[in-house]
Amino acid sequence: MGHLHTGSCLCGAAKFELDGEFKKFFLCHCSRCRKTSGSAHCANLFAPGATIKWLSGEDKLSYYHLEGSHFARTFCSVCGSNVPTDAKARSLVVVPAGCLDTDVDITAQAHIFTGSKGNWDEGLDKVPSFEGMPT
Ligand SMILES: [Zn+2]
Ligand SMILES: [Zn+2]
Repeated sequence: MGHLHTGSCLCGAAKFELDGEFKKFFLCHCSRCRKTSGSAHCANLFAPGATIKWLSGEDKLSYYHLEGSHFARTFCSVCGSNVPTDAKARSLVVVPAGCLDTDVDITAQAHIFTGSKGNWDEGLDKVPSFEGMPT
């Protein structure tokens, strides 16, 4: 313990403090993650035994659990941002890396479920990059 991380949603309603260590960091390309993120993959940090304290906006949070699976998402009902899910039954907090305002102290360890990735999710590292919107 003693590792304090903070994060928030886009609209700022939901703010949290997480006390714990990130043990795993996976980029998940499964269809569930693609649906909920609207993107190629989710970037999920796993913090076993961590505790989360909502500094604000806990009443604005919505929770979705996909029946018959471990898949669950917590998100801000105002702006839709994914925020951490406290999987109490598994004493694990799953943190979407993008909602953190503090630096992440581990690097992504693996792309997972690439067997169900989108057909456009191929060679994306070779696509031209721009620091902002291209003109
Ligand atoms: Zn929000
Ligand atoms: Zn997934």
